[in-house]
Amino acid sequence: MFSIEIVRREYPAVRPKAAMFDFDGTVSVIRAGWHPILIGQFLKLLRETPKGKLLSETELEQIAKNSIELNIGKQPIYQFYSLVQLIQKLEGTPSDPEDYLKEYYRSLFEIVRCRHEQLQNGLDPQELVVPGTFDLLAMLRRYGLKLYLVSGTEEEFVRKDVQLLRLTDYFDGGIFGGQKDASSFSKAMIVDKILKENNIAGAELIGFGDGYTETHDVKGVGGFAVGVALNETTRQGIDLWKRDQLLRAGADWIIPDYTDMVQIESKLFEK
Ligand SMILES: [Mg+2]
Repeated sequence: MFSIEIVRREYPAVRPKAAMFDFDGTVSVIRAGWHPILIGQFLKLLRETPKGKLLSETELEQIAKNSIELNIGKQPIYQFYSLVQLIQKLEGTPSDPEDYLKEYYRSLFEIVRCRHEQLQNGLDPQELVVPGTFDLLAMLRRYGLKLYLVSGTEEEFVRKDVQLLRLTDYFDGGIFGGQKDASSFSKAMIVDKILKENNIAGAELIGFGDGYTETHDVKGVGGFAVGVALNETTRQGIDLWKRDQLLRAGADWIIPDYTDMVQIESKLFEK
């Protein structure tokens, strides 16, 4: 049995009225595996640059990871804007970031397609979510919270995953995802929207996320941020790299998943 790692605050300052969930890694593990794909793609391109050829594999990996880390949780195209800059810095000639994005999606979609098929063929959605997700969402709804799903992944893909996982009905506040025009969407924009449309203070918002962006955005308005650092590959235990990002972003708690519902519920609501 795990316990919650209390990093900043043990309890929310006031009773939460709305909750914002990141999707991939926080609710769904359908896209687990995107991280190694992206690192592999970066390394392949950086290795081919004139200055990259002179660097060791460890050095290149560090450069790639540092860059990727800064853009996690945003729309994927931002990863490739940064990749273009890295390639230029190493005196290489980059392609269009949109082309890099397409290549990334080709690899990722092979994994996603296979998991969609499993779900369509009757796999229990519990197998492809962070453990305890269904119970957590039901519990938050019982306490009257409005639930929002907010993902950097393109909205149509998010909706498809949510539907196959049979999660649509939980998110009464809405499902928001990345848009074709990347500048028209950010998690910070949705945070503002949630506060305005519910007429609540930042402190009444609770965020669940496994990445820097959403955690930072919820903390930025004075909300309570739960950092979910599940190792997505094994669906068990803490991913230390994720934990690190979440600590930097200011998470109040670190948890691996939602299986310790008794503790989660009592700390959030029975202070
Ligand atoms: Mg995520």
